[in-house]
Amino acid sequence: MNKRYLVALDQGTTSSRAVIFTAEGRMLGAAAQEFKQYYPNPGWVEHDPGDILATQIESLRAVVRQTGIDPSEIAAIGITNQRETTVLWDRHTGKWLHNAIVWQCRRTASYVEKLLAAGHGETIRQKTGLVPDAYFSGTKLQWLLDELDARESARKGELCFGTIDSFLAWNMVKGHPHVTDATNAARTMLFNIHTQEWDDELLEMMDIPRQLLPEVIDSSHVIGMLDDDILGVPIPVAAMAGDQHASLFGQACFEKGMAKNTYGTGCFMLMNAGDEFKLSENGLLTTVAWRLNGKPTYALEGSVFMGGATIQWLRDEVKFVEKASQSEAVATSVHDTDGVYLVPAFTGLGAPYWDMYARGTIFGMTRGTGRAQIVRAGLESIAYQSHDLFKAMARDIGSEPTVLRVDGGATANDFLMQFQADIIDTAIQRPAVLETTALGVALMAGLAVGVYTNLEETASGWHVEKQFLPEMDAAERKEKVRGWKRAVRAVLAWAKDED
Ligand code: ADP
Repeated sequence: MNKRYLVALDQGTTSSRAVIFTAEGRMLGAAAQEFKQYYPNPGWVEHDPGDILATQIESLRAVVRQTGIDPSEIAAIGITNQRETTVLWDRHTGKWLHNAIVWQCRRTASYVEKLLAAGHGETIRQKTGLVPDAYFSGTKLQWLLDELDARESARKGELCFGTIDSFLAWNMVKGHPHVTDATNAARTMLFNIHTQEWDDELLEMMDIPRQLLPEVIDSSHVIGMLDDDILGVPIPVAAMAGDQHASLFGQACFEKGMAKNTYGTGCFMLMNAGDEFKLSENGLLTTVAWRLNGKPTYALEGSVFMGGATIQWLRDEVKFVEKASQSEAVATSVHDTDGVYLVPAFTGLGAPYWDMYARGTIFGMTRGTGRAQIVRAGLESIAYQSHDLFKAMARDIGSEPTVLRVDGGATANDFLMQFQADIIDTAIQRPAVLETTALGVALMAGLAVGVYTNLEETASGWHVEKQFLPEMDAAERKEKVRGWKRAVRAVLAWAKDED
């Protein structure tokens, strides 16, 4: 029988999804199941690993039912996942010892402070490409081992640590392989992204016994066969990648200088940085984009805290729009913002500024300023913040970026996309399939089983829906960016003044 379908298991922070694609990259169907979030203390976030597993299996069965395909026509399955979330389980029984500690969880902030106080910050940055933070798995695992007093059993090889990719593979693939891919390993703060190995010095810093770590494999790689109980037939599980990495792959950003930006609540930007490791000089993270045939490709990563959330604020708090989609008509009802800048630093400013004490401000208002100018300034602020990341990445890789490919809810806004192209002076491409994370890992899985024979063929699954070319003249662009920088400087000065 013809194996023509590829399936992505997209295990996210609030739901588990399964998506079916044809080999040509067309989406046939998707199913999702939400699961419960646990907040046992302020700033703590947990998931029940049993919920994660059950909702993931159920969404896979549901999408097969809904589309009516024959499971034996599935060529391969890929797993993409919320990153950094940490699970510890018993190697013999499979039973987890604790709820999963979710990436958002801040419980190990004091562990990170201790690492920094001991002078380990620079070593961690140099080896992992990460800025030490409680967000990454290392200190979460350290906390679990402390809390459960589990180091002795870990040393005896009785326990398994894994991020969600690893946990799902162990539970869904025949023979319980204990593996993770290089992109997920790169988010643990325990993995040396130069040598592509777990790093003894880092393990010692966090007192992590090596015996509980998974084997690190390529992102596109046949791990084994899906357990027969799940769909009744064995199917190769052939890729694993963290969600942002899968999305960069799903946007076919295969050349150095190609980038993707996801415009959701926040914005997540990754740029392909080529096959040589380069530590950012602009406060960005360096990470493994993917690893193929043992060779890592690197990426730079940065995020905007207030992306679409700026539009939610305009809708829910100041009530300047009724729906997010209305922002486009309101913004384009005026010719420009009349010199108004909104800096949505509601929760501080991230890369490349990094000031947690910065707060939101609107500059340049006159007696004539109304809601249209402010809504427009809100949309423009998403583009300016993305511009700052994009240019910082360009400085880091030392060459001109070639294209920015976009996805996420706010990309529906054509005004925002055109303004983004104008401000970064680079073409923006919006693909036909906005499910780039799922598509990315499905393509990786297809590559592992020979549906595609090389990367170029994989890219044939990516199709542009609309392209936005820069139209603004250079002087105007320069003037607008200058105004934005001035507004950010003023915000930073306001945050610092203690008198
Ligand atoms: P997430 O995955 O983070 O929930 P989505 O990709 O679903 O985010 O995108 C939703 C975000 O995009 C919301 O913050 C919303 O305000 C914003 N958004 C949705 N449609 C538009 C639009 N037409 N114009 C501007 N912002 C929009």
